[in-house]
Amino acid sequence: MTNFIHPFSFGDREQSDLLGGKGANLAEMVKIGLPVPPGFTITTEACRAFLADGKIPETLPVQLENALKNLERELNKEFDNPSKPLLVSVRSGAKFSMPGMMETVLNVGMTPQVAEAMGKQSGNPKFAWDCYRRFVDMYGRIVCGVPSEEFQKITTRVLSQFDASLVTDLDIDGLKALTEGFIKETEAVTGEHFPSDPREHLAKSVEAVFHSWNSERAQLYRQRERIPSDLGTAVNVQSMVFGNLDDQSGTGVAFTRNPATGEIGSYGDYLVSAQGEDVVAGIRNTMSLADLAIELPRIHAELEDAMVKLEAHYRDLCDIEFTVEKGKLWILQTRVGKRTAEAAFRIAVQLVDEEKISIDEALVRVTGDQLVHLMFPQFDLRGHVNEIARGIPASPGAAVGEVVFDSKKAYEVSKNGRKVILVRRETSPEDLAGMVASQGILTSRGGKTSHAAVVARGMGKTAVCGTESITVDQSGGFFTVGGRSVYAGEVISIDGSTGAVYLGEIPVVASPVTTYLEGLLDSKSEEASAVVKAVDRLLTHADSIRRLQVRANADTPEDAIKARILGGQGVGLCRTEHMFLGPRRSYVERLVLAENVDVQRGVIAEMEFLQRADFVGIMMAMSGLPVTIRLLDPPLHEFLPPLAELTAQIARSEALHEEIPARDFAVFAAVQRMHESNPMLGLRGVRLGILIPELYKMQVRALVHALLEVRKLGHDPRPEVMIPLVATQRELLYLRESLEEEIGLTFKGTGQLEKIPIGTMIETPRAAITAERLGIYADFFSFGTNDLTQLTWAFSRDDVESSFLPRYLDLELLPFNPFESLDQAGVGILVKNATDQARSLRSDFKLGVCGEHGGDPTSIHFFDKIGLDYVSCSPFRVPVARLESGRAVALKMVKEISSL
Ligand code: ADP
Ligand code: MG
Ligand code: MG
Repeated sequence: MTNFIHPFSFGDREQSDLLGGKGANLAEMVKIGLPVPPGFTITTEACRAFLADGKIPETLPVQLENALKNLERELNKEFDNPSKPLLVSVRSGAKFSMPGMMETVLNVGMTPQVAEAMGKQSGNPKFAWDCYRRFVDMYGRIVCGVPSEEFQKITTRVLSQFDASLVTDLDIDGLKALTEGFIKETEAVTGEHFPSDPREHLAKSVEAVFHSWNSERAQLYRQRERIPSDLGTAVNVQSMVFGNLDDQSGTGVAFTRNPATGEIGSYGDYLVSAQGEDVVAGIRNTMSLADLAIELPRIHAELEDAMVKLEAHYRDLCDIEFTVEKGKLWILQTRVGKRTAEAAFRIAVQLVDEEKISIDEALVRVTGDQLVHLMFPQFDLRGHVNEIARGIPASPGAAVGEVVFDSKKAYEVSKNGRKVILVRRETSPEDLAGMVASQGILTSRGGKTSHAAVVARGMGKTAVCGTESITVDQSGGFFTVGGRSVYAGEVISIDGSTGAVYLGEIPVVASPVTTYLEGLLDSKSEEASAVVKAVDRLLTHADSIRRLQVRANADTPEDAIKARILGGQGVGLCRTEHMFLGPRRSYVERLVLAENVDVQRGVIAEMEFLQRADFVGIMMAMSGLPVTIRLLDPPLHEFLPPLAELTAQIARSEALHEEIPARDFAVFAAVQRMHESNPMLGLRGVRLGILIPELYKMQVRALVHALLEVRKLGHDPRPEVMIPLVATQRELLYLRESLEEEIGLTFKGTGQLEKIPIGTMIETPRAAITAERLGIYADFFSFGTNDLTQLTWAFSRDDVESSFLPRYLDLELLPFNPFESLDQAGVGILVKNATDQARSLRSDFKLGVCGEHGGDPTSIHFFDKIGLDYVSCSPFRVPVARLESGRAVALKMVKEISSL
């Protein structure tokens, strides 16, 4: 028979799988001798069995009865015995904390008889009837499913009847009337008598907690937080302590440090004569822990002791729930507390200074995502702010703009130079143009994987999603929140790092962490804030232990300079096509239109000149560090006007009998000729280099000349040439020979001759599978994980992210977006396979990654594990990659130490 129930004296915090987070931590607190009201935990396994079979496991009732008997014996109290009544709470607690998402029923065991007797024994009948009222209230709503609004109506009615403004003001008759009202309503809803047997109350409450795992809001929350839906919740049955007994009683919450700022010193709220959630409900004013120290100094001292003990034990910020009953302190819950990014960095280094954790552990405690949050510009909240709602922070940043409700409007208003925020219930592919035109996106529905969130992150736009407190009336042109309406044209500010939505314009300030990372603020100086100092310490440590080098993807000298300042150790990807987009697009157009080889040569010569200047700037910025130049890659059509546009233009001119310039015809003909139905799989990358050999030759000539120029200026250029989209050994060999020859020829006559390393991208599945063969002719490999992901999945990133990918994520058909984080189980196998092949060829084969995954925390850990030499990412993410590369090493060390 499976044992579904364990007393709190069993287990510890490692067992959150089985006991849930709350249960595991209750057991841990019992173990270290903190005052915890006794009780027992029904395991998550029981819940899973319940969810699978749709009914309580057969043996559970007997086990529950036995556990209850043991508890009665331990406390010398009895269920349903008015002379020595046992009351319990029935609490939910899953492995991962899901605050407020599931249910808890307090004061189970209460009956009118018990209330009567408890009133006499305690000398405070009002307290006893208050407990009964609370029980009926929770039981009615949670177990019997009465809508809260109905109880709310009854409360309002009874309060006015008794001329009271708060429930706490009601006298005994008032409380009884209120409870009676709840019971009648419950009976009306269920069509049954309100049960009077506490054992039935207990069993039904347990079942209701199991059920609450699948409540709509719990499901939504899990979907957003990516918590698996099959874990189930544990149920903690705990003997009650009463914070509502008298004014020597109360209940509170506390943190061992400030979770918002990371400030040292405990922090919390206490409410006299209260029970359960009263303290966070905000109906009555709470007192601070400092005030508690004055009112109840002994309790306060005990609480501080408990917090010191907890921190020493958990070696981290803890958050706790406590209750004082008649001057005795009880701890009801603890967990390692959630915190802001700022607090995470500050607390981690504080704990090092207090010798509670090692610097490696401190590094493990912060994340690249937290660093990203600290790097974005922030709202200056010091002035008057009006926060009107809080949604899910879906894509970081601080955006201010006029409210618009549709995409077209967003586009029009922004064209006039005004800033807009697109507000919608949710977005769809039709909203793309509007999203591009907006500063940020605010939606009332959807979570971190909704269309709005996925697309915003892809575009680097600020987004707040799932802001359920707002109701969007698109056609009316306004949204409502908390009884007020915000109309199109009004200005709002949204914070994609916290999810906050403010009415009006909030000033935006540069992030001090970014100022520091850019070398404009000395971390040792007085102006450097505590968080800047903390980031500096942890990043410096990460740099000192990491194995992976961090390079940047930079196409311009400006980007290269920025990357170097942010700690980039070279350029891992310089995309040369970017040098021929925008105003320089006409060069490629002329190249394609060239009627003969001479004209083509002429255009190429002009291009070479431009190309050289770019290379000079980048290699100067990266003097002494490697710069990987990728030869032209994109499909030619990207440089030419779109076919549809040209077709329409020509047709219109013809219809109007306008004269069509010969050049327009030529462009049209060329575009038609080059049109591909699937350009991503067409003439691009190495294929282009083979079809127009002069192009790549021009690029390496420009590179050699640039190298010589940079050297003459006294710098140390270290270029590498990279060939894109190779699929077969012969392509690589063919090009390598022709490029080596061209490099040799260019050097010739300058009196200098040297080799420039020539490598290839691994971005087609075939290249990854046959890496060993390619490796013979490549001086290095760089994994182009963007294309490799597209080609492995047969997903075109731009298309799928704005169409079906969000749906896939919502249905959990995909656990995450494979363009944001490397698909280790699929694409990762290809990368690993190619890595192993390359290293079996030459053990020091140089390997890097230059897809966007190079800046993604989870992917970086994977690249470290399989032994790549470097990751390369956008300059902005270089600090994140430095931190995460260090964390990958620190994590290993911390794990090794703890397993000793
Ligand atoms: P949640 O997980 O939503 O925080 P809890 O199970 O922690 O729900 O319970 C809700 C409230 O009831 C908390 O304030 C908790 O401290 C209080 N509470 C739970 N069990 C007891 C108990 N045995 N005695 C007194 N208060 C309790
Ligand atoms: Mg709680
Ligand atoms: Mg590519």
